[in-house]
Amino acid sequence: MRVIIIEDEQRLSNTVKNGLSEEGFAVDQAFDGKEGQYLAQSETYDLIILDLMLPKVDGVTVCKNLRAKNIKTPIIMLTAKSRLEEKVEGLDAGADDYLTKPFAFEELRSRIQALLRRSHNQAENVLNAADLTVNPIKHTVQRSGKKIILTPKEFSILEYLLRHKDELVTRTQIIEHAWDYNFDNMSNVVDVFINTLRKKVDGGSKTKLIHTIHGVGYKLGVEG
Ligand code: CA
Repeated sequence: MRVIIIEDEQRLSNTVKNGLSEEGFAVDQAFDGKEGQYLAQSETYDLIILDLMLPKVDGVTVCKNLRAKNIKTPIIMLTAKSRLEEKVEGLDAGADDYLTKPFAFEELRSRIQALLRRSHNQAENVLNAADLTVNPIKHTVQRSGKKIILTPKEFSILEYLLRHKDELVTRTQIIEHAWDYNFDNMSNVVDVFINTLRKKVDGGSKTKLIHTIHGVGYKLGVEG
């Protein structure tokens, strides 16, 4: 999953970035509202973390502008004060949730998971395909009850495939959702990760879940 943090407090932004990166998220940063809006509308994100008080363009305006451009990416608004009017203003502008500073990283994390679940119409915390189970909150993967250990990037790719179960997913989509802005798309890196994932996830099972759609991309599901 790929996230952008639009926040002018560098230290807070870096803390959130580091925390999310450790969980396998691809994270971009913008330090003012103008840059943030530009990136949010030109890149592909699964979630936007948007501070309210920002240089150049404030968070409420960024939020309104994005929604006016029909960008439906879930937005969590960060507010410095817990004033009711600010929360209402943020939600009215099209934000999906808000968090009052200072906040615990754990709280941000569980709200992100809740929003991702909602935006993918998933009622459960756990993602499944056949006997494969992935828990994005606990960061665990099991196949037939057996634990599988994945690196954060492998986890991120598997989670993306699973959130788009039975759908064709292109290499570009995987890159856009699992790597950040600085990624140099010049190699067969996606195929390399898929090969490793396939060994770990499908290696010991008769039912193969990760399928290659030649020349196009991949599909996760019981049938290829
Ligand atoms: Ca700020």
